[in-house]
Amino acid sequence: MSTFKLSDYDCIGFDLDHTLLWYNVTNMVEMEYQVLTKYLVTKKNYNPDFLQKPLTPKDIDFMQKGLVLDFDRGNILKPDSKGVIQHVNHGSTSLSLAQINSIYPNQRWESLDAFINNPLDVWEGPHSKKMRALMDYYDMPASLAFARAVDDIDSRNGGEVEKYEAWNDVTEALTNMYERGQFKKNLGEYFVNLKSNPDKYLRKCSQEIVSWLKELKKTRVTFLVTGSNLDFADFTATHTIGEDWRSLFDVIVCFAKKPGFFTGSRPFLALEGYEEAQEVKGDELIRGGIYSQGNWKELKSLFGKITGKSEPKCLYLGDNLIQDVFVPAGHAGLDTVVVSEEMHAEGMDHITLPHPDAETMLSNYWGSYFSVKINNDNNGVKNFEKSYWSFLIENYSKLCIPSIKLIARNPLDKIYDSFDKNDLTRHGYYPAKPNVPAISRQLSLLREPKQQSLNEQRQRTFKMKKMLDKQAEDNELREQIQNRDLAVPSTSK
Ligand SMILES: [Mg+2]
Repeated sequence: MSTFKLSDYDCIGFDLDHTLLWYNVTNMVEMEYQVLTKYLVTKKNYNPDFLQKPLTPKDIDFMQKGLVLDFDRGNILKPDSKGVIQHVNHGSTSLSLAQINSIYPNQRWESLDAFINNPLDVWEGPHSKKMRALMDYYDMPASLAFARAVDDIDSRNGGEVEKYEAWNDVTEALTNMYERGQFKKNLGEYFVNLKSNPDKYLRKCSQEIVSWLKELKKTRVTFLVTGSNLDFADFTATHTIGEDWRSLFDVIVCFAKKPGFFTGSRPFLALEGYEEAQEVKGDELIRGGIYSQGNWKELKSLFGKITGKSEPKCLYLGDNLIQDVFVPAGHAGLDTVVVSEEMHAEGMDHITLPHPDAETMLSNYWGSYFSVKINNDNNGVKNFEKSYWSFLIENYSKLCIPSIKLIARNPLDKIYDSFDKNDLTRHGYYPAKPNVPAISRQLSLLREPKQQSLNEQRQRTFKMKKMLDKQAEDNELREQIQNRDLAVPSTSK
């Protein structure tokens, strides 16, 4: 029987965004979509009638973390854990099983097979020119932007074209938004929007987590490895955690360029203010240091010196299943814990508590993040296969939690059941497994789209959603959610 306890680790590291920091995903995703499509229309001459159509609840529902894009064909795919392509959209049009098989014989695709075999190969290799899995809430809006761009191209050409170039344009737009220099230069709109109204996009970090990190640092080496440049990390962490956020970690690595950080040998760079300065050799790294770029091998060597152990036991907690989980666990020897807000949003066995961004995170159209409905002609019988994301969680992490708050509430030596490749009857979802029956109900909507009355449609208008968001941000309700959410019920182990 596999178990896990935090007290077994000498060094405990964290990702920042969507791990320690909570975003208002609803506001963020909508803003990202607007910025992304404005670029496509103004710089790449896409038709605003397609790209800038007002976002309806149906459009929000279409966007989902974890979808796979086939650039050349203009398709959006939802594969299962074995790489079988179960659902496909060409642009915004859903394809039948027969159509899927005519494009992808036996519902398989070479590039996707390469990804399933080793996601790292597709991160940088030739297949990265063919496909991309949308791994987080920064690129999730690209699914809808890509679909609409493909619709626009088809409309202009009077039908499908041989090869779609839309992804190159979307990539250019994403780079314009997220390229690190844009923060300092106040360009690209994304950072400008965040700076001008942080409370709209960021949620305050729970004091419970901050206090836990302080306590943890007294007995363990704690570290932060984030992809954000120091100026942006300082802005978000100061706003959400507090002015002294740096004091919570023994070592901070910014602009780490994960997942390459865990496998490569890029040198560490010193920071002068927010600017990268001279190279820092591995043996010059110090406890209390803040660096840019770098690599895991030299960081681990520093941890060896601090702990006096040749092989310190290291744990990393993060939300991105490739950067924070598959690569560190599969290629660098760390143990990992997944932080998955989707567990909270979709619901778990015996636990259904509202997530303020559930409407944005859930997708009735594509179904659960954790499972995929098998696409066959077996009318009425619903069979499900795990999603590839569940596979990564269950094979490359010890534990999967909806929030760090859940483990911060427990003593460090609490024993959790953990994932075990050799014993699938056990699992490391804590406090409980994702709720498959709830997912089934959602997926039934995929088969027979619910006919909404005009009144229901009106109730789900954007205005209403904005109002609900505002309500969720209300201090009193936030307090209530923070105190009550995801308390371990008596029925759960
Ligand atoms: Mg993250």
